[in-house]
Amino acid sequence: MLRVAVVGSGPSGVYAASDLVRQSQVPDVRVHVLDRLPCPYGLVRYGVAPDHEKIKSLQNNLRGVLEDERIGFLGNVEVGAHGLGPQRLLELYHAVVYCVGAARDRRLGVPGEDLPGSHSATDFVSWYSAHPDAPHDFAGPALAARSAVVIGVGNVAVDVARILARAADDLHRTDVPQGALGALAASGVREVHMVGRRGPSQAKFTTKELRELGALTSAEVVVDPAELARDPAYGSPDAAAALPAAIRRNLDVVRTWAERTPDRPAAADGVRRLHVRFFLRPVELLADGGRVGAVRFERTAPDGDGGVRGTGAYEDVPAQLVLRAVGYRGVALPGLPFDDRSGTMPHAAGRVLRDGAPSPGEYVAGWIKRGPTGVIGTNRPCAKETVASLLQDAPALSARRVADDPLAELRAGGHRPVEWPGWLAIEAAESALGLSLGRGSVKIPDWAGLLDAATR
Ligand code: NAP
Repeated sequence: MLRVAVVGSGPSGVYAASDLVRQSQVPDVRVHVLDRLPCPYGLVRYGVAPDHEKIKSLQNNLRGVLEDERIGFLGNVEVGAHGLGPQRLLELYHAVVYCVGAARDRRLGVPGEDLPGSHSATDFVSWYSAHPDAPHDFAGPALAARSAVVIGVGNVAVDVARILARAADDLHRTDVPQGALGALAASGVREVHMVGRRGPSQAKFTTKELRELGALTSAEVVVDPAELARDPAYGSPDAAAALPAAIRRNLDVVRTWAERTPDRPAAADGVRRLHVRFFLRPVELLADGGRVGAVRFERTAPDGDGGVRGTGAYEDVPAQLVLRAVGYRGVALPGLPFDDRSGTMPHAAGRVLRDGAPSPGEYVAGWIKRGPTGVIGTNRPCAKETVASLLQDAPALSARRVADDPLAELRAGGHRPVEWPGWLAIEAAESALGLSLGRGSVKIPDWAGLLDAATR
């Protein structure tokens, strides 16, 4: 028997577990999927926006994998705690696949970034997704803001801009925790500015996500045609024709918005305005009464090489709430190699490299392998490559003696794993909570509540 630990139960971890057991090359592979949280699914549960029900429903596919009898889910097990470092894991399992994602946000590196009222978008996402470690409660001063600036034009920026602009009534049917739903309903935000430092033809958002902004009934999208015209691909059919179809579609969407903007009346009462801006790079967050009051941007211009240069012209955009959506970053795990520049674990075809050489029994997949890019499905080929390497190494790996009962060893080491029935009990408690509130399933947002539900 080949015993494998997969660390992390997000898409990359679950796809890796699936590939490990659903193959015929190596017989009798058993997998434990470990997660620091009592709940599985990683960013599908704690990152995908609550109003993206279709993407969220992917949890059903992941569930199908974790219910395989050759796979055991062990939540509430933190690698790095209770002496469970990489060396200990290799005493318990023949191989370990690290699928720990990219847990941190990237920083802007501008003055004022840490003023009260300035947050990473990932903190906001964690809060409305009921992550039990969400570091900030956005109820109160944060959402009392009238104007919010979202920095970045990737899909995370689009998600948080949409949640800020969306009527909370629309979220009633989702699993947003009750506290966040109430705070979003009381939000004072009326103006949302989503700002890119480059042009629309370099924006990272995808067209489907972008279009959703225009479909909101609670907000009007505002785009300045003069700002779009700064993008060489915008006004020139020849330049646009040379672009990938996905970017051309993005340009078409913003063009539609820009063309209708000048004739429109001021936002009706209660309707929010969502300004999509380009060619502005943040240089400073300005304080007002001890909190952020505005973001100072420098106007940029294309440098002809896909980048931008500063023009020396500045614009201050009022903002009592700033969400920095400038990308995720991987975090080093103690005892494992880490490339600080890319925020990833060095690897060759998924084999973890220590001092440039493959480390026997150690593998990596997902964002911690390739960086925080791509959609959920990108993790499939990524995990496949890693598992192919592992299966190739299997004869040597399985020759090594490991613990007979890793679960018993984990318990003896002080871990209190939440196994699959515990997770099902959390799901049942979330359904019951929703029922009591006249909603569908509603997420439990705190550790005590989750662990209590798991043992009920
Ligand atoms: P992202 O796609 O890399 O976008 C980051 C944005 O931040 C870019 O617009 C980038 O501009 C900007 N940026 C970076 N540094 C900056 C700085 N110093 N100042 C100003 N702007 C800066 O990252 P993400 O939005 O966090 O998304 C991560 C991944 O998750 C992506 O693959 C995304 O597609 C995926 N995701 C998908 C969905 C979905 O499918 N619905 C939802 C959420 C996330 P530059 O391009 O100029 O660097």
